[in-house]
Parts: sequence; C-alpha cells; structure tokens
Amino acid sequence: MPDYLTEILHACGDDAGALADYIPELASADPDRLAVCLSTIDGTLYRAGDSDTEFSIQSISKPFVYALALAEHGLDHVLDRIGVEPSGEAFNELSLERDSRRPRNPMINAGALAAHALVGDPGDDVDTRVERVRRLMSDFAGRELHVDRTIYESEMSQAYRNLAIANMLRSYGVISQHPRDVVHGYTQQCAISVTTSDLATMGATLAAGGVQPTTGKQVVPEQVARQVLSVMMSCGMYDAAGDWMTTVGFPAKSGVSGGILGALPGQLGMAVFSPRLDSHGTSTRGVRICTRMSADMGLHIMQAPEPARSTVRRDRTLRGPDGSLARVCSLQGSLQFGSVERVLRTVTDGMPIAVFVLDLRRVSSVNDVARRMLAEMLRRLQLDGADVALLDPDHVLHLSEQAVVRLPERWTSLAALEGYERV
Ligand code: GLU
Repeated sequence: MPDYLTEILHACGDDAGALADYIPELASADPDRLAVCLSTIDGTLYRAGDSDTEFSIQSISKPFVYALALAEHGLDHVLDRIGVEPSGEAFNELSLERDSRRPRNPMINAGALAAHALVGDPGDDVDTRVERVRRLMSDFAGRELHVDRTIYESEMSQAYRNLAIANMLRSYGVISQHPRDVVHGYTQQCAISVTTSDLATMGATLAAGGVQPTTGKQVVPEQVARQVLSVMMSCGMYDAAGDWMTTVGFPAKSGVSGGILGALPGQLGMAVFSPRLDSHGTSTRGVRICTRMSADMGLHIMQAPEPARSTVRRDRTLRGPDGSLARVCSLQGSLQFGSVERVLRTVTDGMPIAVFVLDLRRVSSVNDVARRMLAEMLRRLQLDGADVALLDPDHVLHLSEQAVVRLPERWTSLAALEGYERV
C-alpha cells in the first residue's frame, strides 16, 4: 500500500489551478505540497507525501458539524431547518429553498452556517459553540485539534459573503443568534488545523458507522454517520457533485485549502492534499488522485457487489431409504437479502421435502434481513412437517427459541444423512 500511494503521487501529473485567494492567508500556502493517506476502519494508516503538513480544514469541517447537530438534536429537528438536496450552485451562493426557506443542504455555506448555529444551546456564546465543535472533531481525529488563529483572523477580515449569508439566514428566522457571532464561530470551525492523516482517520470513522478506528470510541451514532455520508454523496462536491458521483463514486467533501476527504462505508477513509484548486474550488490533483484510486481499487459505490449466487456453495437434493427427499443447502460468505432470496425461492418451488439441512459453517456474517428471512423459512418448513437441521456451530443465525420450533436432536451433523442418495 505505501508503495502504491507513492506511485500515484508521482503519476498524478502536472498541477494546474490556483490557490484560494479570497482568504489572504491561504494565498501564501506552499502550492506544491502533496499528500495522500488511507485509513482502514480497523485503524491501519497508509500514507505518502506531506501527510503530516497541517492546513486549515475549511469546508471539510461541514460534515462533522452537521453530524454534531444531528447527534445533539435528532434528524427531524435538523431536517426542519436544513435540507438535503444538491444545490447545483457554488458553495457560497446566497440561496434558500423557495418554499421552505431552508438552506438546501449542510455542505454549502448557507447550510453549514445554519448547522453551526444549531450546535449546543441557541444562547451559547461563540467560544462555547466552537469548543463543542473542536472537541467533536478531535474525537473523530483521535487527537486534540486546535483553531489556527491566523487563518481565522485572515478569513474574518474578508468574510463579507458569509456575513451576507448569515444575515439572510437571520432575516428568514433560520438562525436566532446574531449573524456576526455565527460567522465568527463558523470561521473558527473552518480554521481548525488538520493533517492529511487526520482527515483519512476522520473519514474512516464515518465509514465505520461512527466508531473511531484507533480509540474505539463511538463518536456519533451509526444512523448519524449514515445520514452524513448520504449528504456528502449527493452534495459534498458542490456544483461538481454529479461529475464526482459518476467518475469517482464515493462520498467525499472538499475544502478550499486543498484537502479532499473520502469515505467508503464499511471499508476505508481516505484523504488527499494539494492546494491548487479548479473552478469549483476543489483540489485539481486531488480530484485526479481520487479518480485513479477509485478505478484501481474498485471503490465506486455503485459497482455491483459479488453476485448473490456465489454465496450458495452447494445445494443438493437426496433421496432417503424410505423414498423421502432431503435437501442440503450449504451457504458461504456474508448473507444479505439477495443471496437468501435465492435460497427461499428454490425451497418453495420443488417437491415436498422431508428433511432440510441448512449448513452455515462457512458463513461469515448474516445481516438482519437475511437472518429474519432464514429464520422464517425454517419455521415454515417445520410447520409443513419437515425435519429441519441447522449446522451453525458459530451461531451466525442467532436463532432464539421463539424463532424456530425446537430442532430434532438427531440433526446436529450430516451423519444423519447416511443411506441417502443423490437425486
Ligand atoms: N471557510 C470557507 C468559506 O466559508 C470554506 C469554503 C470551502 O472550503 O469550500 O468560504
């Protein structure tokens, strides 16, 4: 992995684009910095390039503050105030949804300012709110992060657009605080210093359903992580969201300091840093690196998973000495709706079965819907008079006494099928 990451840094080509200069301090960043990091959800961090260089998180803070607002107030409360629709507009557009007057989503500045204002109690002062945000982002990173005062003051000196957006939000009652306070808090949130390694770890925390890979702490509930990743998928790349979805295909968020954070649910978090930006305000080389990694590593979320049939290892019908039929169905891998539906479909369309053996010894995991479907299948087979045998030494099915009628004693191994012949 480290060799591969180094090789993509070398192969990512000439840089193009310009530094963000509407924040004076960003215009003086070293434009040639380049880093890529990948964190697995169990905490292994692979890195290449300037992975320990600190830079301000900027808009990549938005998903985390949205997560904090969701964790503190619940989905309905936040949805009443901030939408989840892609805006197709620039990140700093002065716009609200026509009827609801909500900001369209939490990834554009209007929604991010509203999300910032939701953190804590409405009457909290700027420092209290910023401290809550800093603490949560530190939990995501697994280390103490801090606000870079120079970046914060530099952005505040030119924050006319964000002040305009905050005034708009206040005039429509989306925020109740003084607009200036919300912008001061939000700008500090954007000025929190991170490294590319931090961002990859923070992405892995979202990918792991909110569990930080190195500390093991559940930083936000799983449902919150899912909501945040969904909004990143549809709105994270501003007016280039459709392009990103089709070419790169994993949830991501970019920032004007040159970072991009990506997360592939259940697998990994990744981050890139290269300060020169394209016309959407996204790192030019960063997009190129993410596109290449997605193709090389099969990270596109719409890539069809393993076909369901590969989970049916063997499915045989046998005839016993008395002429009755037994069916032995051996499954493998991780069972989900698609694979279990195949088994259920064929169980009901054959001849009546006297014995059904379900062999789960090679199954690694069963998700909730697959578990319920299999339990119901066994229950109904028993109601139809079949003997049901379950080979599940690791208890992957978690069958409770209520879920199935008691299994006959003799059906604890395939030895009971002696004398049966293949049909
Ligand atoms: N602090 C920046 C702003 O509000 C963040 C923008 C970005 O990173 O896209 O303008």
